Amino acid sequence: MSRADRLVGLLDERELDCLLVTNLVNVRYLTGFTGTNGACVVARDERLFLTDSRYVEQAKQQVAGFEHLEASRELLGDLAARLRGRAGFDDAHVSVRAHRLLGEKAGEGVELVPASGVVEGLRAVKDEAELVAIRAAAELADVAYEELRAAGLVGRTEREVARSIVRLLEDRGAEGASFPPIVAAGAHGAMPHAAPRDVAIPAGTLVVVDLGARLDGYSSDCTRTLATGPLDDDQLEAYEVVLAAQRAAVDEVRSGIACRDLDARARDSVEARLGVVFDHGLGHGVGLEVHEAPRLARTAEGALAAGNVVTVEPGVYLPGRFGIRIEDLVAVTDDSREVLTGFPTELVTVDG
Ligand code: ZN
Ligand code: ZN
Repeated sequence: MSRADRLVGLLDERELDCLLVTNLVNVRYLTGFTGTNGACVVARDERLFLTDSRYVEQAKQQVAGFEHLEASRELLGDLAARLRGRAGFDDAHVSVRAHRLLGEKAGEGVELVPASGVVEGLRAVKDEAELVAIRAAAELADVAYEELRAAGLVGRTEREVARSIVRLLEDRGAEGASFPPIVAAGAHGAMPHAAPRDVAIPAGTLVVVDLGARLDGYSSDCTRTLATGPLDDDQLEAYEVVLAAQRAAVDEVRSGIACRDLDARARDSVEARLGVVFDHGLGHGVGLEVHEAPRLARTAEGALAAGNVVTVEPGVYLPGRFGIRIEDLVAVTDDSREVLTGFPTELVTVDG
């Protein structure tokens, strides 16, 4: 069954006659189109794909199973005329201006219905081809960590290391990094989303490195906290606590577990032993986007299902001192899980 066919099954649940898809990631997921201007409409008996003249040839090669329409660069006006009945649109991505235009150009009897998250729900469950791409992207992240271990960190600046990671991923066949890598030494690592600085990495500290590769459109995401020499007891203890929480959470990943329960277990065990909690969720889905459904967080709804690919990434952040985060990418299988990250989670000391 095609992805568009599966989407049709969800239209009934939402009592929609058609769904207008304008978010380019969702358009790519449904149609295969990788250009920068395209949209589609999916209804029970109709599949329309629109792009402008720049992409007509590319669309012929990439988009099968849809009727192709050439439109002006402002696709929405042309699209609006093709909507019927209760027409779902992605209210998380359609601007107020675009919504007004749709309302003006849509025909009589068309009702615009907010319907974000429908395609994202499909995307959360990966098929085998998607898993192959994500596995390969995860292997590239492993290669990047092996390279860091071999090349060393001490004396190099955080920015230099971050740039070398991007180069390495591209040299090894990635389309690029899936996000700008984080390289944060010592107290800088206490900021979960630290930007790399022009500061040399010292010996005897912890360095949080968060990186991922993008391959065939799919991302990987992996954090390791590396040591650059002997550490003090507080740092070693904190590392053991985060590692124990991370491993316990990975072992709990399975179809049916509530996303918020998984988050709570890791969070509570870190808090009980160190008296601090991490301020971000335990993890997130990864696929065409590096952050997508499902979320593992305190307020998350729903449960994990086979085909989900999620990160498990507890951390501790002690302002002025250091940060630790350990992140693996895990696929939920029918009766278990597959850890896609291969680089060890035990504390790795990178000399030199
Ligand atoms: Zn990450
Ligand atoms: Zn992540």
